[in-house]
Amino acid sequence: MIIIQNYINGQFQNPLNDEWLDNYNPSNGEVYGRIPNSTGEDVDVAFKAARTAFPNWSEKNIEERSRILIKISELLEAKVAHFAEAESKDNGKPINLAKAVDIPRAASNFRFFGNAITQFASESHENVGQQALNYTLRQPIGVVGCISPWNLPLYLFTWKIAPALAAGNCVVAKPSEITPLTAYLLGEICNEAGLPKGVLNIVHGLGTITGQAIVEHPNIKAISFTGGTATGAHIARTAAPLFKKLSLELGGKNPNIIFADCDYEDMLTTTVRSSFANQGQICLCGSRIFVENSIYEKFKRDFVAKVQQLIVGHPSNTSTNIGALVSKSHLEKVVGYIDQAKVENHTILCGGKKVTVKNYENGYYLEPTVIEVKSNECSLNQEEIFGPVVTIMPFHSEKEVLEMANSVKYGLSATLWTNNLKRTMRICNQLQTGIVWVNTWMLRDLRTPFGGMKDSGVGREGGFEALRFFTESKNICIKY
Ligand code: NDP
Repeated sequence: MIIIQNYINGQFQNPLNDEWLDNYNPSNGEVYGRIPNSTGEDVDVAFKAARTAFPNWSEKNIEERSRILIKISELLEAKVAHFAEAESKDNGKPINLAKAVDIPRAASNFRFFGNAITQFASESHENVGQQALNYTLRQPIGVVGCISPWNLPLYLFTWKIAPALAAGNCVVAKPSEITPLTAYLLGEICNEAGLPKGVLNIVHGLGTITGQAIVEHPNIKAISFTGGTATGAHIARTAAPLFKKLSLELGGKNPNIIFADCDYEDMLTTTVRSSFANQGQICLCGSRIFVENSIYEKFKRDFVAKVQQLIVGHPSNTSTNIGALVSKSHLEKVVGYIDQAKVENHTILCGGKKVTVKNYENGYYLEPTVIEVKSNECSLNQEEIFGPVVTIMPFHSEKEVLEMANSVKYGLSATLWTNNLKRTMRICNQLQTGIVWVNTWMLRDLRTPFGGMKDSGVGREGGFEALRFFTESKNICIKY
């Protein structure tokens, strides 16, 4: 049994109320750890540690902050295998994915922002006529809150913490209660890297109690949140009267638009990945596939054949393509959409059933599922399923597919497959999403703005956008 503790003021601590929650291993459905059921009191203790640490941390030379963040990155890189094992056990994701993508990316987040802060210059504007010089300072906010989801646990946790710390803030952070393990392990690495006490504080617990306490805390003046759209709306309502800065990265229902003139084999392989990577539990997965009518039947055959080759299995098995879904309740939610597809007479082309993995009969496994839907208006095409389920349907014209792509409440990302440059430019301009990938998927450059339009969020993360979010600008005008 692993006992996960809060990390406050550089020390591992039990929650003040000594109440605990069970943590499940999705691959076998068994409880394998306990996490603190922290309350507002723990959040306040964490806040006080952060506030005490703030002046020293924010006044450190940028090179020193940068050095510590890069050291954290190096220590994480040295422990990729250990962290990947923990992430895979906690989340159900295939070990290969955790090793190749999640943990290296968490390390990159620290390295990237450790470097980026050294290049984050302030602006100045000279007004010669009025003999005045304006310059703009970018000052850290103070103590900020970071709240992250379960799907890419350490990857998204560090995507917030690294820029917050780089900009000179101190942090009170809460990982998802469902996947707390790698955030817990990070505390030790921070101590080893020499991060001063109280600069980062990690409080575990339920979103509705611990997360809510962070959002409601009157002196935590900025909240960076990634999670579901309903939670994001609730956080926005709570934070508005407190005048907090908010960055909200929320849900998606991303179109994958495939034209007949694309590089077919490349598209096919990538579309399998963009549909089912991490059991389809990535906010960027292309969950609505639209295929040009002339290649629709061929695509349907080839895609289903490839999907049927994916191996559903235990996450620690290196040949597994599809691991376990994150929790029993999430599995049931996803299965509910498959049941609904049957009721509404959509066609399940493959998958659709829970899988029993030998020796792990109580794990949360589901076949990768492809559903041919009758129209874009059905709930399967409008609501975020967030599991190994994609829908497909044909389109006949550019106008029609653009309308379908844009007619959802979400606007996170889109993927476009075509070799026609003019069409690419037209469609990219008109897609209502924060990110568009053309002839690729999830190729990330950490310098670029990341985030969604419409109900997919408010604000952008990544590069200098994140450093701007985690700082207050102050303009100073000097008449000379
Ligand atoms: P949730 O919104 O349920 O939870 C996200 C985080 O918020 C968790 O740490 C959760 O804690 C916490 N939380 C819940 N309620 C509150 C509250 N009232 N106040 C403060 N914090 C709270 O999302 P999931 O964890 O289920 O993650 C899946 C969602 O995240 C999907 O919709 C997905 O699209 C979205 N997502 C968006 C991304 C983006 O970049 N746009 C990237 C990845 C995921 P707890 O877990 O303890 O409930």
